[in-house]
Amino acid sequence: MQVPYVAFRDWPQGLAQQVEQAVARVMREQQFILGPDVEAFEHAFARFLGADFAIGVGNGFDALVLALRAVGVGAGDEVILPANTFIATANAVVHLGAKPVFAEPDAQTYNLTAATAGKHITPKTKAIVAVHLYGQPCEMEALQQLCKAYSLKLVEDAAQAHGATYKNQFAGTFGDAAAFSFYPTKNLGALGDGGAVVTSDPGLANYIRKYRNYGQQEKYHNDLIGVNSRLDTLQAAVLSVKLTYLHQQNQERQLLAQRYQQELQTIAALTLPATAKDSSHVYHIFNIRTTRRDELRNYLQQQGIQTAVHYPVPIHLQPAYRFLNYKPGDFPVTEELASTSLSLPLFPGMTEAEQEHVIRSVKAFFV
Ligand SMILES: *Cc1c(COP(=O)(O)O)cnc(C)c1O
Repeated sequence: MQVPYVAFRDWPQGLAQQVEQAVARVMREQQFILGPDVEAFEHAFARFLGADFAIGVGNGFDALVLALRAVGVGAGDEVILPANTFIATANAVVHLGAKPVFAEPDAQTYNLTAATAGKHITPKTKAIVAVHLYGQPCEMEALQQLCKAYSLKLVEDAAQAHGATYKNQFAGTFGDAAAFSFYPTKNLGALGDGGAVVTSDPGLANYIRKYRNYGQQEKYHNDLIGVNSRLDTLQAAVLSVKLTYLHQQNQERQLLAQRYQQELQTIAALTLPATAKDSSHVYHIFNIRTTRRDELRNYLQQQGIQTAVHYPVPIHLQPAYRFLNYKPGDFPVTEELASTSLSLPLFPGMTEAEQEHVIRSVKAFFV
């Protein structure tokens, strides 16, 4: 049996047809750039999260850049972010001429905390980026208090956490602004690139809405020099359909995760994901850890099971980031995660037989 790491299944059944109908409708109506479909999705997504504004942009990276720029991050500023995140978080900071300052994650949740971020605050620190890694929100109350105490901006990277909650409030509604990605494999995914900035600050929303569209207030009237990073109208129409199934798909991910937890908890050599008591986890990624990671990965590959590693090389050790002069050993928790983490297949529509095959194979490896 072959088990893909991720697949796009028609789940719940009928979703694929609704998505195709939405695409066909936009083709017929021929409003391809911005327009009512983008606005409808922006409103629906903001309402879903309980935020005042969502602004559709080209991708998750742009959402981070625009969110950081809107809160005032620029040349010479320092921005604190977790050392264990996708490269986009750090690249966005560098893109604005600011300096990424890495901090360790918590060894249980793998998320940035106020305690670890707080160690790196200097007079140059402008903002903290809280990345809700793998689908679990960071401890946002403590991070909010830290930012308030030091007058820092708080930006959330919610690219892996659509629909996850902390103290019953949605990830993406705690900071000054939050960045979402709708990359196809994300919990809310488009049929291509897409992203959004979410905020409840009307000033930030206004700035971002203009900036993503060349700085235009209205056509050919520009009060700032912006870029082109609009959420594609076809993608917005697709996302509006898929948003109505997000809770259901997240619940399915949680059921699959629960089954992995139940079946794999007896294996002493494995570390399974832990969810903090104030958080819900939407399992964008189901991460397990073992010192025999590469061996296990090869074994599963031989059984026809695809896995992934998030992330094999921490950002502070990437050749592209050599200019920051970090060295191995600077972030032991992050480096340990990089060498032991393995992501198991988990996606809505994964069959019981597929998951059974994964579970049985992992167990067989460890006997
Ligand atoms: C996917 C992702 C991004 C970037 O999103 P793109 O749409 O691919 O640009 C940023 N941060 C994190 C944590 C992500 O997982």
